[in-house]
Amino acid sequence: MSIRLEEAPAAASAKRKLARPELLAPGGNLEKLKMAIHYGADAVYIGGPRYSLRSNADNFTMEEMRQAVKFAEGYGAKVFVAANIYAHNEDLAGIADYLRELEAVGIAAIIAADPIIIDTAMKVAPKLEVHLSTQQSTLNWEAVRYWKEEGLPRVVLAREASMADIIEIKQKVDVEIEAFVHGAMCSSFSGRCVLSNHLTDRDSNRGGCSQSCRWKYDLYQAAADESGQLLAEGVPLFADEEESFTMGSKDLCMIEHIPQIIEAGIDSLKIEGRMKSMHYAATVVYAYRQAIDSYLADPDNYKLKPEWLEEIHKAANRPLNEGFFFQVPGAKEHIYHEEDKQAPYDFAGIVLEYDAATGMALVEQRNYFKPGTELEVFSPDGVRFRQTVDAIYDEEGNTLDAARHPLQKLRLRMEGPVQPMDMLRKKFMSKKSKK
Ligand code: SF4
Repeated sequence: MSIRLEEAPAAASAKRKLARPELLAPGGNLEKLKMAIHYGADAVYIGGPRYSLRSNADNFTMEEMRQAVKFAEGYGAKVFVAANIYAHNEDLAGIADYLRELEAVGIAAIIAADPIIIDTAMKVAPKLEVHLSTQQSTLNWEAVRYWKEEGLPRVVLAREASMADIIEIKQKVDVEIEAFVHGAMCSSFSGRCVLSNHLTDRDSNRGGCSQSCRWKYDLYQAAADESGQLLAEGVPLFADEEESFTMGSKDLCMIEHIPQIIEAGIDSLKIEGRMKSMHYAATVVYAYRQAIDSYLADPDNYKLKPEWLEEIHKAANRPLNEGFFFQVPGAKEHIYHEEDKQAPYDFAGIVLEYDAATGMALVEQRNYFKPGTELEVFSPDGVRFRQTVDAIYDEEGNTLDAARHPLQKLRLRMEGPVQPMDMLRKKFMSKKSKK
């Protein structure tokens, strides 16, 4: 029997204790991992040196994983490692040793799809939980029950699962369910696309997806010669180059549905984006953290605050939608014409130190700014304040006309107290205005 969406208790009362879902964020590298945890993630997933999709991400070394686990423990957070490729024969050597090493450095779980990786982990690294990757495209409760009976404590559902599917799965199988709530979607059925393989010889299922669906294409109508033989070149359908189209999809964003998500019993809310910036991770994690905590604190009087959505939009570089949660996406959910790739805010720098006596902060630069730029100070508690930069100094106290060099350490006078790991951001400036 399928469950109708209206049956989802949108705001049952506080009479019963709601389970607190995990907020799971991407950790593209050690710095992004720290930022995601500092801004509110309960757990972070990363890629290790082997077996991870996202071969272009800054995958972690074992030493970095050790540091990541130590940092996470300080916040009571967990680190998961994606080991979710489908292995070819040449990938098999070394799997057991790799999994033992992950267990030894304190990784809490691997996210795996290939049965050989799942089976090996259970045999050689019993303290390592195995979470079934979304790459297995699990969509129904019988399949979830199968994986539970195989000994997996958690299943990451396919992005194609609907809210009704999830509710039914949670009602029928007592196993942890992790679902994507935010981030990029694949315009093919997730993980079942070979566009990248054909066009760039980069294998999507071994982490090499070149996002070929997001390229710009020109449309040609097939043309044939008199005998009916197809010609190599077709007839351009649009002479105007601006009509080039893409095949990418809009990004998923479920922050407006946190009550339903929590009431459905989803155990882990996953944010996609190991390749995205640390500003993106911190901003999205912050917004979901606020929404989740607010709902759990007082479900009956919960209201989505517009500022949480504003935060999401500060980091978003694509239009957003609700993926497959409430309907199968149609044409409206795809991006057929050029995307606006620029998020409205730029990450300007990160606070390293603050001296309350002088009001001066030591800041590491990330993007260009200059005296006169309005900076917003963003923290795990939200926007602290905005200020206009009056002057910029280098570490030796010399005045600079602009902050031009990424990672340069600078001193700025702050108009209010700040803390290490606060972010400074500014409205996006086009290259023309950076003089
Ligand atoms: S090319 Fe696009 S549709 Fe294909 S796997 Fe990559 S993201 Fe998905």
